[in-house]
Amino acid sequence: MKNKMKAAFLVEHGAPLEIREVPVPEPGPGEVLVEIEACGVCHTDLHIWRGEHVPRKELPLILGHEGIGRVVLNGSLHPRLEIGARVGGGFVHSTCGNCRQCLTGYETHCAEVTATGFDYDGCFAQYVCMQENWVTPLPDNIDPIEFAPLMCAGAAAYSAVRKAEIEPDRLVAIFGCGGLGYYAIQFAKLHGARVVAVDTQDEKLNYANKLGADHIVRADHNPSKFIQDLGGADACLNFAPSLATWQQMLSSAGSRAIIVLVALPKGEVSFDMAVVVENGLRIKGSADGTRQELRELVKIAQNGQIANNIETVPFSDVNKALDRLAAGNLVGRQVLDMSE
Ligand SMILES: [Zn+2]
Ligand SMILES: [Zn+2]
Repeated sequence: MKNKMKAAFLVEHGAPLEIREVPVPEPGPGEVLVEIEACGVCHTDLHIWRGEHVPRKELPLILGHEGIGRVVLNGSLHPRLEIGARVGGGFVHSTCGNCRQCLTGYETHCAEVTATGFDYDGCFAQYVCMQENWVTPLPDNIDPIEFAPLMCAGAAAYSAVRKAEIEPDRLVAIFGCGGLGYYAIQFAKLHGARVVAVDTQDEKLNYANKLGADHIVRADHNPSKFIQDLGGADACLNFAPSLATWQQMLSSAGSRAIIVLVALPKGEVSFDMAVVVENGLRIKGSADGTRQELRELVKIAQNGQIANNIETVPFSDVNKALDRLAAGNLVGRQVLDMSE
């Protein structure tokens, strides 16, 4: 193990990240030091980079929260993870572990939730300290590049699909075909749903089709009418960072539909209460995924049931990756290869 590492620091919001050489951090009690092999680039990184989500740790801060790597040191008194074990870390860094939300399976909604690359330094680095209790153990034979985006994007999509209570033959409308939307289409299909994908771009819709979406419709071609003609959606999931999908979802929803909100467009929306009351709609928010959901997701991916569309980017090009994500026309996810 080296005693110096390269890491990409956010020094000033909106300015390029600075790759610096700094000492490798030391794991404290309950922490493991992980040598990072790959880290996905998430939209949340973009929001933090621009200062739209103001990080709670003072700058400079290392971003990145879709990290896969191997344990190289364990600071726990009673270590569970062996040196060399492959693990993954997502956005949730830790929670209190002791409140009603934590104890009843809703730990990502704990009032004391902290986040990687936000409250603590993240994985755009060769080494990072993670909470031993919060890393996801991974099989040794996985491809770290393929698995990295599952840690945040995959987990968030999986959790949202679970909250939609999908049963076989239900009609599920996925609004927004980016990284999360693509995962959600596949998870909804694994639940036996009929899936309608909605997006503004043909290229993204065509890829949604390849992933198994039964129907595709452009967001500017009256998707609500299209979906109502199919019988109305039993669930609508929003992954599009746009307020415009809100009215479309309300008018696409069938009776007793569940609307799950995941994306965080800025601003407010309004609605006619009668639409919600008379149709018995349920509206849920969903953030990240729990540790249990991540473990289930890893099993599904390990069985080869999830297609990824990944562009591998060398770590030294981290700023190019952020710029490309900001441009908004990526079809898949970018993953930084940290092995250079
Ligand atoms: Zn808690
Ligand atoms: Zn993320």
